[in-house]
Amino acid sequence: MLRPKRNQRIAEFSFSRNYSNAILLGLVFACGLAVIWPHSLLAAAAYPGLWAFSYLVIYAGTCRYCVYYGKKCPIPLEGSCVHHFFEKKEAPFGCRQLFWATVAYGFRVILPVIFIFKYQMAGWGTLYFSILTLFWIIHLRFTGCPNCINVQCPLNPEHH
Ligand code: SF4
Repeated sequence: MLRPKRNQRIAEFSFSRNYSNAILLGLVFACGLAVIWPHSLLAAAAYPGLWAFSYLVIYAGTCRYCVYYGKKCPIPLEGSCVHHFFEKKEAPFGCRQLFWATVAYGFRVILPVIFIFKYQMAGWGTLYFSILTLFWIIHLRFTGCPNCINVQCPLNPEHH
């Protein structure tokens, strides 16, 4: 149910294969900054730092275990950059790796989510959560997982 149907098997995702994820993730970042910035310059300054830290978390906990280590994967700056920071781990990829990916995305969204609820920003909140949801639908159902060759991942169409 959670896993999509297989589409293609893409060994390395060129920009033409993952540009929609790049645009949507960029919009998630920009929209989050627009939410925070009018309320706290300090938090707005910390926000890019949290994003940078989230990449270290996902590199260490997830990407170094992935077959896309050192290659362009469905998400920009992840598989294509991990080798600059961590050695590859020859160990299985499973729920633990998805847990650390979830933690990493938590760091990316925590400040905008806090500000949206604290300042009851209904319009910005709707926009932010819509972009975030669209990003995940596109990634999980269309551009990413259906074409991914990391069959050890619990979300991969061929995982068993
Ligand atoms: S199946 Fe999806 S979540 Fe899992 S590694 Fe591939 S693209 Fe990432």
